[in-house]
Amino acid sequence: MQEKENLLKKIPHVDKLIKHELIADSGFYRHEITEAVRDVLTDIRETLKSGKAESVPKDEEIALKATYLASMRAQKNLRRVVNGTGVILHSNLGRACVSQKAASAAHDAAMFYSTLEYDTKKGERGSRTAQVEKLLCDITKAKSALVVNNNAAAVLLALTAVASGGNIIVSRGELVEIGGAFRVPDIIEQCGSKLIAVGTTNKTRLSDFESAVNEDTKAILKVHTSNFKVVGFTSAVSVKELAGLGKSKDIPIIEDIGSGALVDVRRYGIQDEPLAEESLKDGADVVTFSGDKLLGGPQCGIILGNKKLIDVMKKHPLYRALRCDKMTIAALEATLRVYLDPRAAEQEIPVLKMLSAKEGELKERATKLCAEVENDGGKAGVIETKSVAGGGAVPGLTLKSYAVMPMGDLSADALEKKLRSLEVPIIGRIEDDKFLLDVRTMFEDDFEYIAGEIAKHD
Ligand SMILES: *Cc1c(COP(=O)(O)O)cnc(C)c1O
Repeated sequence: MQEKENLLKKIPHVDKLIKHELIADSGFYRHEITEAVRDVLTDIRETLKSGKAESVPKDEEIALKATYLASMRAQKNLRRVVNGTGVILHSNLGRACVSQKAASAAHDAAMFYSTLEYDTKKGERGSRTAQVEKLLCDITKAKSALVVNNNAAAVLLALTAVASGGNIIVSRGELVEIGGAFRVPDIIEQCGSKLIAVGTTNKTRLSDFESAVNEDTKAILKVHTSNFKVVGFTSAVSVKELAGLGKSKDIPIIEDIGSGALVDVRRYGIQDEPLAEESLKDGADVVTFSGDKLLGGPQCGIILGNKKLIDVMKKHPLYRALRCDKMTIAALEATLRVYLDPRAAEQEIPVLKMLSAKEGELKERATKLCAEVENDGGKAGVIETKSVAGGGAVPGLTLKSYAVMPMGDLSADALEKKLRSLEVPIIGRIEDDKFLLDVRTMFEDDFEYIAGEIAKHD
């Protein structure tokens, strides 16, 4: 007992340890490192008391432990990763990476004062979104536009402003759940509307909608089935057909198109994604979609359509609660500006660049990365694979791509875990017991880092 007491007394004091050169030079804030030292000392005290240790570690050892602990704690939770999964719009990895121009616009909006709500010509209060709304109308030929926090917010606002207190008719085949929390029936309930589901899971006809319309009907909602496909005997009612019904009964047609492509993505092999412009042309009164899916911009929700309806949304109290922040508006404006020249969009917007990458180009990049791994003393091979658009966009669509496959001694599982645990994690996927890094979604500037880590962990 006495021995233990003596040992405990030998534990150095926090104030003394703080002055240790390892700690003094560690570069942490004083409160961070002091807390870490305290925690390490508590730990030592506990292990001595329990008899699991019989001596007090040297000051240097304690200082090392404390700096390690502080550095683990200082590691940002949100940090960069290398996306080698081949999933372009990976919801867990942040969906779209924005362009250089968009990022620097957001950076400036964050760091400096701006014209967010100031009209420099008049010297008075201006609109925070007039510019992005005009760009959206120019690009899609919409009559009016509005931007909110995300597409879920866009649908919520549109339905609440237009159909609260009434019925909303939706096909049973389109009562979707996307990304866990976006469930169409729940959103409709939240709007204070009654869901009238028509048709069946696989087949819905125009007559189903016609017979459901009554004096309580305030909207017909069409939802893009972004993350699943029903195959076999199916039929859905097009916006065009719904628009005819809507016109004759004076009921607005609202379409949630999900990904919201602004350029024709059919040329990249994506067939089933509705284009915002086409949906409006086909007669939808309101169209909503995400800013960070196929558009390739920051997270936001875009609402396009009929000016009268959009004005009602703009004046609704929910709009104030769902509006975007200035960094988003800056990044969206910069992204949309590029779309005025569709060819530039393919070059400058990362999502479109990844989608449009040619097979030959991808094979060349994979070969280059492989050579870098070998240069660093590792072993890897090039393998043909398939990338997916992802992000609740385009179910079942795969694009031929190329991946680098490390060929060291580690098993695929062990290597996957090692690379995932790095400070800048490298995330790949395992296919047939092989660990693959798809070059479609990785940036070439990162190749040196990736090659070095593969070689190290082979
Ligand atoms: C992705 C998606 C949503 C949700 O969009 P967020 O921008 O993530 O809120 C809603 N509806 C459809 C059809 C979608 O594809």
